[in-house]
Amino acid sequence: MKKLLVLGAGTAGTITANKLNRRLDSDEWSITVVDQDRIHYYQPGFLFIPFGIYEPDDVIKSKGSLLPPEVELVVSEIDLIEPEQNRVKLVDGGNYLDYDVLIVATGTQPRPDETPGLTDGSWRDTIHDFYTFDGAVALADKLRTWDGGRLVVHITEMPCKCPVAPLEFTFLADAFFHNKGMRDRVELVYVTPLDGAFTKPIASEHLGRMLEAKKVEVETDFAVERVDPDRNMLVSYDEREIPYDLLVTVPVNMGAEFVDRSGLGDELNYVPVDKHTFLSKEYDNIFALGDAADLPTSKAGSVAHFAVDVFADNFVRYAKGLPMVEEFDGHANCFIESGFGKAAIIDFNYDTEPLPGKYPVPGIGPFSLLEETQINHWGKMMFRWLYWNVLLKGRDTPLPAAMTMAGKHAE
Ligand SMILES: Cc1cc2nc3c(=O)[nH]c(=O)nc-3n(C[C@H](O)[C@H](O)[C@H](O)COP(=O)(O)OP(=O)(O)OC[C@H]3O[C@@H](n4cnc5c(N)ncnc54)[C@H](O)[C@@H]3O)c2cc1C
Repeated sequence: MKKLLVLGAGTAGTITANKLNRRLDSDEWSITVVDQDRIHYYQPGFLFIPFGIYEPDDVIKSKGSLLPPEVELVVSEIDLIEPEQNRVKLVDGGNYLDYDVLIVATGTQPRPDETPGLTDGSWRDTIHDFYTFDGAVALADKLRTWDGGRLVVHITEMPCKCPVAPLEFTFLADAFFHNKGMRDRVELVYVTPLDGAFTKPIASEHLGRMLEAKKVEVETDFAVERVDPDRNMLVSYDEREIPYDLLVTVPVNMGAEFVDRSGLGDELNYVPVDKHTFLSKEYDNIFALGDAADLPTSKAGSVAHFAVDVFADNFVRYAKGLPMVEEFDGHANCFIESGFGKAAIIDFNYDTEPLPGKYPVPGIGPFSLLEETQINHWGKMMFRWLYWNVLLKGRDTPLPAAMTMAGKHAE
């Protein structure tokens, strides 16, 4: 019996375990998944918690309920991968798990400790985040009673997972304060290390116009050096200063520390892999999927989903000693909630930036790329059901893993 060991039961790990459990012969392969947490968080839902649109219970399910009974779930923090011995050391009891093939799917985590001053005293008081469950819940408490001032939404560094989420937060904050009748008492500021609203030029222009329409001040090319919590000030390396009354920051995102300890990571603890097959550049029995990999595309659940579709087909061949013929193209898509019951959507890959048009059916949609519509908003709201019931379970969807140009047009 061969052993497939999956590290991480988040989006990528769960989809992989479900898909491969169906595709591999159970007399030949056993599948074990390790995660430190019994709870699976629907992270896109963290965006809605601060504004009271979702309650905390809306974004959690037990990891066990999302995996098939044939897959073993081990709940423990991972300490170390020993790739030369084909084994993984767990923190709990110092036990080892052997593997024939290893998949690293431990994602990326916010690391507020990486920015001086961020967690010194004002953390979860005048400085908040919404990239963690606890952070989103604490921010909901804060916003319930906040009586206005200068709200600065800030991205520390790229790459961060779901790079549109800070924009969505800003749009929703605009709508939230409008609906509370206090928008005139809130100065909204968007601070980014990028030279515009987004990483790709056409989308950046569209999203920049949306920020402008919502009267959000934008500060670009801001590489934060430290936060001065005594003066409520963001300070950049080029000595610019941005004052805030309430700071909502997206901290540095980094892969798991054990990846670094195991000698498998780059400077941000992401595993260097072939961007088409996810095979480690160093070991021919280690793959990395989802945010844990150093793929040059967005760190997003949609990428994990499309990537695992490609990976599962390849893995069946790989398991038989055949060459992997499928190639992942970097396909990503994301709804961008923009407030007042509307959203936009983007769809792109390694080579093609987000373009306007219709998605997924060319000429029809129902979703409109780079345009704010109510149908896009309903797509975003329905996505949670799809996530729990279809995507995580590894069920097939009519959406092809590869991006298509049909329905898109260059401006
Ligand atoms: C606020 C927010 C909004 C988002 N919105 C969207 C969106 O609209 N669309 C979209 O596509 N994506 C969105 N994302 C991104 C999406 O959630 C992630 O890209 C996706 O979850 C990545 O999947 P993953 O499996 O790689 O990592 P994760 O789902 O994060 O899973 C990693 C798992 O590894 C485990 N783990 C980590 N370290 C260890 C360790 N040392 N020992 C044991 N276990 C460990 C963790 O407990 C976790 O279960 C959003 C994310 C956030 C935070």
